[in-house]
Amino acid sequence: MTLPTDLDCQTCGACCAYSSDWPRFSTEPDADLDLLPPQFVAPDRSGMRCEGNRCSALSGTIGKAASCLVYGLRPDVCRTCMPGDPECLTARAAFGLG
Ligand code: SF4
Ligand code: SF4
Repeated sequence: MTLPTDLDCQTCGACCAYSSDWPRFSTEPDADLDLLPPQFVAPDRSGMRCEGNRCSALSGTIGKAASCLVYGLRPDVCRTCMPGDPECLTARAAFGLG
């Protein structure tokens, strides 16, 4: 399968609003997690705080203009999701984005 390589995350944001189970912490060192602004972290510190399915650190409008307010500190799961991979395409499809 050929992955689409022309997907632009800055006009998308779908994976950041697809599921509250998505932006979970996994292998991040505690020292890195401590750098995240607390308002973006779930009360139980299991992951990013979400509002519904949407990560609280996502700014903008899905499918139009999106940015991560903690980009340099984002969890590992966010770093491993690549445009065009299966998780990306599932999230995009959920928002009607081709
Ligand atoms: S769903 Fe894909 S294209 Fe959209 S922001 Fe996530 S990785 Fe980027
Ligand atoms: S931390 Fe940033 S990249 Fe990760 S889900 Fe939230 S908005 Fe998206």
